[in-house]
Amino acid sequence: MAYTVPKLTDYSPASLEKAAAECIAACQTESREVRSDADLKSFRDRWMARKNGILTQINGLWLKGAPKEAKREAGMRVNQLKARITEIVEAAHVGDGTAALTSESADISLPGIRRPIGAEHPVIKTQNEIVAVFQRLGYSVAEGPVVETDYYNFEALNFPPNHPARDTQDTLFIAGQESKPQRERLLLRTHTSPVQIRTMEKMRPPIRIVIPGKVHRNDPPDASHSPMFHQIEGLAVDTDITFGDLKGTLDHAMKALFGSSVKTHFRPSFFPFTEPSAELYVTCFICGGSGKRGDGPCRPCKQTGWIEVLGCGMVDPNVFEFVKDNGYDPKRVSGFAFGMGVDRLALLKYGVDDIQLFFQGDVRFLEQFG
Ligand SMILES: [Zn+2]
Repeated sequence: MAYTVPKLTDYSPASLEKAAAECIAACQTESREVRSDADLKSFRDRWMARKNGILTQINGLWLKGAPKEAKREAGMRVNQLKARITEIVEAAHVGDGTAALTSESADISLPGIRRPIGAEHPVIKTQNEIVAVFQRLGYSVAEGPVVETDYYNFEALNFPPNHPARDTQDTLFIAGQESKPQRERLLLRTHTSPVQIRTMEKMRPPIRIVIPGKVHRNDPPDASHSPMFHQIEGLAVDTDITFGDLKGTLDHAMKALFGSSVKTHFRPSFFPFTEPSAELYVTCFICGGSGKRGDGPCRPCKQTGWIEVLGCGMVDPNVFEFVKDNGYDPKRVSGFAFGMGVDRLALLKYGVDDIQLFFQGDVRFLEQFG
């Protein structure tokens, strides 16, 4: 006789246990009677259908009917039961009718439950590749908090008090801190640069570090902006670091990342924490620097043949002043720093045209990179 969900009157643990065991046994028996794809479908529907499937009925009859003091216990039991039934239904398959196993034994010839194997997210994969290039050059990895103080995010990096980056238009501040002095106020870091200061406070020169991590800005999401994105920064400090070292290091790193044929090109720029500052361009690795793709224009480089990949420069002596007591006397040491957006590089590398796709968690999109 086909199983029907009984109404419960006794909600004692022993009675719940018995009702659950009967239900599981019935489900196992039915799962072994599946002989065709049509059987399998109706078996699944009978147990799992949202509308009036057996699990739905159990919810209605056992949970909603439970007296107040037994609700908690009944809820736990029903959840365990649902998990078990779901397992049995998912493992069910079309059988050949020869199975003669009791409900107590396991059929070791049944296929296991296949668990999908995950893969690195394309952004994290790109991040790891960049970090690995610098690790091979002797850099170590440093990390720091995502919720930062104004001091580390701005002040110690030579951002003047009225710099536009401090504006609420760009920075996400933690609410309710008006009573604190400005330098102690918390915010979501807008770049990974605070870790440069934090590391220099802890380690005396010479240092060579790369800093990968999440950063936040108050940018409304669109195809090329996201309120959360990823950066990698680098910092090298020693007694005799020159702009030549900066160029040589980054030229090597770009060739390691994008292929030995790319050329690099530095253009003057401005950042509060470096002086002089530059933007680094590499020959477009999509069109090879020609600006054309077949007969059409190359869009990623806007037909210029060059792609901007990062900002860099020599560490401003004012920044060293903040960590002077730990051996960073700007008269004795010099250094360079650079920073790049990982998500943008991942977009270019994988030919993706919308950054939002990286963060929506759609497995159909992500599994293409697995
Ligand atoms: Zn191009």
